[in-house]
Amino acid sequence: MAQVKWTPQAADDLEAICLLIARDAPALDGIFADRVLRATERVAGLPRLGRVVAELGSENIREIIASHAFAFALYFSRELPPMGNELVEIRLNGQSANASDLAVPLAEYERARGTSHRPVQGEEAPEEAPRAGKSFYIETFGCQMNEHDSEKVAGVLLARGYRPAASDDEADLVFYNTCSIREKAAHKVFSHLGAIRKQRRLNPPVIGVLGCVAQQEGEEIFERAPWVSLVCGSASYARLPELLGRLEAGAGRVTGLSLDVDDCFETELTRRNHPFRAYLTIIEGCDKACSYCVVPMTRGPERSRASDGILTDARRLASEGYTEIQLLGQTVNSYRDPSPARLSFAELLGRVAEIPGIRRVRFTTSHPSDFTPDIVRALEENPVLCNHIHLPAQSGSDAVLARMRRTYTREQYLEKIHCIRSARRAISISTDMIVGFSGESPGDFGQTLALLDEVGYDQVFAFKYSPRPKTEALGWPDDVPDLEKGRRLSELQDRQRQIQVARNAQLVGKEFEVLVEGFQPRLGQAVGRTTGNRVVNFPGEDGWRGQYMRVRVTSAGPNSLVGERVQAGAAPGPVAE
Ligand code: SF4
Repeated sequence: MAQVKWTPQAADDLEAICLLIARDAPALDGIFADRVLRATERVAGLPRLGRVVAELGSENIREIIASHAFAFALYFSRELPPMGNELVEIRLNGQSANASDLAVPLAEYERARGTSHRPVQGEEAPEEAPRAGKSFYIETFGCQMNEHDSEKVAGVLLARGYRPAASDDEADLVFYNTCSIREKAAHKVFSHLGAIRKQRRLNPPVIGVLGCVAQQEGEEIFERAPWVSLVCGSASYARLPELLGRLEAGAGRVTGLSLDVDDCFETELTRRNHPFRAYLTIIEGCDKACSYCVVPMTRGPERSRASDGILTDARRLASEGYTEIQLLGQTVNSYRDPSPARLSFAELLGRVAEIPGIRRVRFTTSHPSDFTPDIVRALEENPVLCNHIHLPAQSGSDAVLARMRRTYTREQYLEKIHCIRSARRAISISTDMIVGFSGESPGDFGQTLALLDEVGYDQVFAFKYSPRPKTEALGWPDDVPDLEKGRRLSELQDRQRQIQVARNAQLVGKEFEVLVEGFQPRLGQAVGRTTGNRVVNFPGEDGWRGQYMRVRVTSAGPNSLVGERVQAGAAPGPVAE
């Protein structure tokens, strides 16, 4: 079997090889392929692919992928939202393994990557970076909320005269913006802290830990990693300029850990990483108390922004050329306008969608208990509101939902689904599921599988339960063995894959408007996304990014569609979304 020699170059090549995995996505395990596909969107356009194929020979590529699939997958798990960090069981061409099998290839890969260069948040540093001022590098773990927080932090740093560095090898200031929803994500932060210390022994940078792990671990981070200078939870980001000022004045250690906040962290200085999609936080924190979740402890209580400020920001983004706005909140639909306008969440959606220049509005993540029919009506009335709703169920069993403190029953959840499915236009639905929660019996798990069938989700993000510090469930027995959790996860993913195959097959022959988000040069493929959040690959050009195009679906895999552009003026086909 062909082997990759783990040099820094090979580590870089790994990214390019994954482009080929993405191309073969329908032949691979559904969930894995989907995650790789999404990750490759961020690295699409790498110039290395042609050289990799030339050097390794295309006939060897699949063998290489097979022998190193697990290292690839773990590498890409860094690039994904917190809910995507649990690539616990990956199957490829009939092979399968658990996370522990990843250790050796990952260590080899990490060693190689130690001297390789990667972009900051998917973006190369400017060629003509200003010479004055110190440089920064932010590595982000986690969800879109975290990504957007990093954009805001980068804006604050730029305003203070820092410039972006291409890697943590060379930055004067290295920040890890962390996520602690999954145990592995928290471990990753400490492993990065260890690695950067070794890597930069001769010219140590100022290191900061931001986000959920910072809030959760607090000053203990200084005990475990004394080379860290700044620990700041997401609820204290508004204090960042002050904390940076103290660091610049020579303070050895500074912290921002108060949860006593009544504002969202907002700044006009946000440096956005995406050229046509802009994130906009409308609500921070969470007042729910799910028994497994750290977010209320790390992000603080729920606090909504005034609607006029949100609309002003949205209008400014439109004038800057952004055509898609994604409204963010841990429980986005729990939004309560604190201003005299008292807009409901549905009304706010409608007002954002009316802004000239905005062609798509998305929102995430919705909580089922606060999901009301007026949200569906808003979607029906305004096609600018994307026809996709992410509605985390977490389990299909009432007993488990009760222990999770999710505040709804299976029946109540299904009522919300029925409301969405009854809309005048087709709305795709995705969800999150946790398997192996404390006390989850085989019967409980069977209820979750049955829920997949009953709802017919378009996408499911499923994870093995891992107890988190300071949560209610931490005190309960973690009584589903890890092997059994892995087996249940695999069964759930298999079932969902079949559902997606069947649902996507129905789309062949239909036409969609897609927003072109990327381009795979070697394959000559544009990568677009429908308003229903489906990925469509079709022959295209690099210059198409950011454009909206009509595409006819010619074939479908479980995780993405393949299509062809419909030329302007062609007779309209059946438009699906
Ligand atoms: S709703 Fe539950 S799972 Fe979601 S952030 Fe709040 S506590 Fe966590």
